[in-house]
Amino acid sequence: MDHFTYRDGTLCAEDVPLTQIAAEVGTPVYVYSAATLTRHFNLFRQALDWTDHLVCFAVKANSNLAVLKLMADLGAGMDVVSGGEYLRAKAAGVPGNRIVFSGVGKTAQEMRQAIEGGIRQFNIESEPEMLVLSSVAASMGAEVPIAIRVNPDVDAKTHEKIATGKSDNKFGIPISKARQVYAEAAALPGLKVVGIDVHIGSQLTDLEPFRLAYTKVAELTRALRAGGHEISRLDLGGGLGIPYRRDNTAPPLPIEYGQVIRETVGDLGCEIEIEPGRNIVGNAGILLAQVIYLKEGEGRDFLIVDAAMNDLLRPAMYNAHHDIVPVAQAELGASLREMDVVGPICESGDTFEKGAQLPQLQSGDLVAFRSAGAYGAVMASEYNSRPLVPEVLVSGDHFAVIRARPSFEEMLARDTIPEWL
Ligand SMILES: *Cc1c(COP(=O)(O)O)cnc(C)c1O
Repeated sequence: MDHFTYRDGTLCAEDVPLTQIAAEVGTPVYVYSAATLTRHFNLFRQALDWTDHLVCFAVKANSNLAVLKLMADLGAGMDVVSGGEYLRAKAAGVPGNRIVFSGVGKTAQEMRQAIEGGIRQFNIESEPEMLVLSSVAASMGAEVPIAIRVNPDVDAKTHEKIATGKSDNKFGIPISKARQVYAEAAALPGLKVVGIDVHIGSQLTDLEPFRLAYTKVAELTRALRAGGHEISRLDLGGGLGIPYRRDNTAPPLPIEYGQVIRETVGDLGCEIEIEPGRNIVGNAGILLAQVIYLKEGEGRDFLIVDAAMNDLLRPAMYNAHHDIVPVAQAELGASLREMDVVGPICESGDTFEKGAQLPQLQSGDLVAFRSAGAYGAVMASEYNSRPLVPEVLVSGDHFAVIRARPSFEEMLARDTIPEWL
């Protein structure tokens, strides 16, 4: 459930008509609903309320400071994958002891930064990384908590670009090697082994891969404990999918996901961490755009909108689908017409949907790309010198611009022409 509904004929974000946001902020613009974010975060918390847990929001899904602050105030931890995300989490008020550092290529400098600022745990992805962390921590006189990310060789049955738990993916260490690596970790200075980490992919619409992976984690926990390791924390990653098409059957709910966690690792007495991103923020956001032209082609019509692949990359990158709906409800009842929805960028990949069935829209009409809150604004660029897309947060009947559209002056001022040119 989200909070984007038609009221008095106009699509609203909570109590704010999207027409008002378009008029005041312009388009394209991302619009997020605070009530939806809150609701989704609380669903995960409730799903784990049978045990000691921390829900760590995956910052890479949406790293706007206002979104992170909202999450932090609800008690969320954060899962970060870079020094920049770490700084964002801190700037949003998240204490270091609620920040988990993941990612395959942490540099010594990022490690130092996080140790200085405080960290809940590093999720180690390889032996070379573990050696560097050990020497960085030891040189600072610190002992840092670690979990080792294991690759369970489980097929997440999702898009290949976001599957991370098969043995041919770059993530984690093979679970078959885990006992050896834990033994090495235990002997290294500066590291304190606290747990096991796993994350098998994103946009999972079936619970079975989770069940398989978590069962392997439970077996490994027992084996490591038998080997003398203290395993008190399990980080089970993120990945639960969301419905992107209104007519599709919805993926499992957080409560059902929590049940799988309980059934697989619930008897181990471990503190549970999860790292949901998409499921919390995906359906809490839309991308609002305006029709520039309806272009009648040969045997094919094109709806050219003012949002493009630089604003919302998912369709071009993963062939992802976003439902496109008119902001004016009256148009919903109008007769449908087949068209390709495209942006103004000079690439054929700048296509949001081929053969979309949409009402007769005209220049100036507003449309919303639904389910755009996750991996939307964070992947935006200024390709074609299009200003970075702004973001708005709605709560009840008010809204705020939480990232302003840069002016062309600001954009140009970032470049420097060397004196010798
Ligand atoms: C991307 C990622 C997540 C979040 O995945 P979602 O599908 O957005 O829930 C969690 N943990 C790690 C390590 C990730 O890389």
